Amino acid sequence: MQMEHLRRIGQLRRRMTRAGLSALLVTHLPDVRYLCGFTGSNAALAVTRRAVRFFTDGRYIAQSAQEVKGAKVEIASGGAATAATQWLAAQVGVEGAAYDSAHTTVAEFERLKAALPASMRKRFFTALAAPLVETLRMTKDEDELALMREAALLGCQLFEHILTVIRPGLAEFEVAAELEHEARLLGAEGMSFETIVASGVRSSMPHGKASAARLPRKGFVTLDFGIIREGYCSDMTRTVFLGKPGSEERRVYQAVLEAQQAGVAAVGPGASCGEVDEAARSVLRKAGLSEAFTHSTGHGVGLEIHEPPRVGAGQTFRLREGMVVTIEPGVYLVGRFGVRIEDMVAVTQTAAEVLTPAPTALIEL
Ligand code: ZN
Ligand code: ZN
Repeated sequence: MQMEHLRRIGQLRRRMTRAGLSALLVTHLPDVRYLCGFTGSNAALAVTRRAVRFFTDGRYIAQSAQEVKGAKVEIASGGAATAATQWLAAQVGVEGAAYDSAHTTVAEFERLKAALPASMRKRFFTALAAPLVETLRMTKDEDELALMREAALLGCQLFEHILTVIRPGLAEFEVAAELEHEARLLGAEGMSFETIVASGVRSSMPHGKASAARLPRKGFVTLDFGIIREGYCSDMTRTVFLGKPGSEERRVYQAVLEAQQAGVAAVGPGASCGEVDEAARSVLRKAGLSEAFTHSTGHGVGLEIHEPPRVGAGQTFRLREGMVVTIEPGVYLVGRFGVRIEDMVAVTQTAAEVLTPAPTALIEL
């Protein structure tokens, strides 16, 4: 992956030049990982037009020697970001540095400023107007897409497995535990977020974390889960029915399915996120269910479970080849039931590739 990291640093430098920046402090860990491969929990990267320097602490001497590509490693005795700041301030030709204010707390920022020579404190840092590394991360290269395909397919395998387990009377957390246990056995590093198992009336909660509630004899069960594979997250949702659904339950499921399919069909290079959202939303509007669709249609996914772009109403951002987003419309009839269907979709040169091809037609168990 050495080449990947050099290419990414090169891309970042071109963007820095375009933005008129001579130096950048990178502290958001997924950004650090993306640029130099380090997977530990304390790190900062200092990037100038000529050099890249990686900072971590003494716990990571061996790991950083093994993982960090394309940057010189320095073990700092204080904080990694503080050391990176001081290094940047000492570079000839670097008058200031940009930092990512979206991922820096006020307290951290004050600490970084205090580490600078007094004469530099006032003017050294500028907040990035728009995130640079996160923007690069939106477009996945072939290696990243291959990992994300693997992660997504592992998710589909988990869904197949959990169908053989689900039955009335099981607690939701037992379903989640089985899913997570199997995920590890199949090679997941971990789950990309807290597994959602929402059954019966609880399916009307968009974020119904698995609880002690028991699966009903008759009703929907929404499963929303994802795994991590070499740092990359998967994310999918399926809603199944225990017993025989009534006509209203069928109607709502069908409407969500059609909305989801319309959303997926709208994904392609050049499509705006708002258009994709509207493609899904308009189907539910026609079915008289748009008020029960209370969230955005989807989100970007990659090294983080939620990352840009946001696939929501009015978003003018245009999708490009290599971006991966979720399409996950849902209908939540409070106090009754809910349905959500979610796929991960990669934008291809001409259209979209569904990375989570598990069946979406209503499954009755
Ligand atoms: Zn999800
Ligand atoms: Zn999602």
